Amino acid sequence: MRKTLKSAHRYLKRAGAISAALSAAATVAAQSTAAPLAKPQVHIVATGGTIASTNYYSANVGKIGVAALLAAVPAIDSIASITGRQFSNVASGAITTDMWLRLSRDISDTLRARPGLAGVVVTHGTDTMEETAYFLDLTVADPRPVIVTGAMRPSDGIGIDGPANLYNSVRVAADPGSRGRGAMVLLNDEIFAGRDVTKMNTVRPDAFGAPYRGALGVADPERIVWHRPPFRQPLFDLTGVRELPRVDIAYAYAGADGAAIDAFVAAGAKGIVVAGVGRGGTTPGIDAAIRRAMQNGVVVVVGSRTGSGGVAVGEGAGRESGSPGTVGAGDLPVQKARVLLTLALLKSTDSRDVARVFAAHQ
Ligand code: ASP
Repeated sequence: MRKTLKSAHRYLKRAGAISAALSAAATVAAQSTAAPLAKPQVHIVATGGTIASTNYYSANVGKIGVAALLAAVPAIDSIASITGRQFSNVASGAITTDMWLRLSRDISDTLRARPGLAGVVVTHGTDTMEETAYFLDLTVADPRPVIVTGAMRPSDGIGIDGPANLYNSVRVAADPGSRGRGAMVLLNDEIFAGRDVTKMNTVRPDAFGAPYRGALGVADPERIVWHRPPFRQPLFDLTGVRELPRVDIAYAYAGADGAAIDAFVAAGAKGIVVAGVGRGGTTPGIDAAIRRAMQNGVVVVVGSRTGSGGVAVGEGAGRESGSPGTVGAGDLPVQKARVLLTLALLKSTDSRDVARVFAAHQ
């Protein structure tokens, strides 16, 4: 009983601390001038997803906030000093490009305002987590890490993975070896580069992998193990960017015509990524639509729907499939190629320039 009260008291204390942290930007400013703490400081930005859900497999899905997420992992207190912010509380299918812009700025501003912060953890739905992680990887310039995590099982499920993922993400965010590695994804003890990671299973706790390049490291019980030295690709500066261009993905399949591509162009797409068959192949109908799109100034990137392996990189990569002038996605999955094309179009709408960007990001 005493123990229960003690932990309830700690929970309330933490919940109070978090709501105070949420209440005003001034709090963040004040923390930056406070005396240095012995424990590393980690900031959590909660966006929603299964990790923050209850009754997930019912018609009445519920939501929990960042304070309750933390309350489920009291051991975090022993490894880091935590602050939290509720950015949103949505399934990741509801995350928009506008939210990417705000989230990236929010994280960069927090890191700038808090030099004592070791790193940031973002909790996120797993469905589009890889896209958000890649966007943050390409746009948060600070060398301190951003760890994106979530859960495959709801917060009130059996054998839940959310608390372990959150705990390990805080460990990785606080680990000096994380510096200079950009945005990463952690689930099931594995750490992946935001660029390489992809969701490969709809329900299993080990749903995430990087089939072409492998994991960056693992969160072992006694230490964080890194398999490779830090490496970052060229970044994009979001200063002055108010909105991101529309970029859509068109899926190739036997007999596909160009209706989807024509519709995307009509809807205002500035870029299109084709999920090609095999090594970036298309169909006669898609080729014709690609030519029409390019005549309208739309930049077309061709990737693969296979899930692993690359397509030729560089302008004209689609020549084999009858679409010269397209840009090859390399080994980026099409949903990642969409993120890169969205940012590349901020700099140039010339497919030769976009091809150079794709080449630089392999
Ligand atoms: N539908 C959920 C989401 O992506 C799935 C999850 O979080 O695992 O938000």
